[in-house]
Amino acid sequence: MQPAPKKKQKCKNCEGKGLLKVGDKKMKCQRCGGTGFKPGSAAAPGR
Ligand SMILES: [Zn+2]
Repeated sequence: MQPAPKKKQKCKNCEGKGLLKVGDKKMKCQRCGGTGFKPGSAAAPGR
């Protein structure tokens, strides 16, 4: 059980770095698109 903060969640794929280490290179995490955070409600709805 984890506390679920109502904030951006770190992307587990890249551990919040936004980059994935692939061999010798670093590749942009496709999961979060390089943001390091889980995709989802990035933009606040409304307004
Ligand atoms: Zn990621």
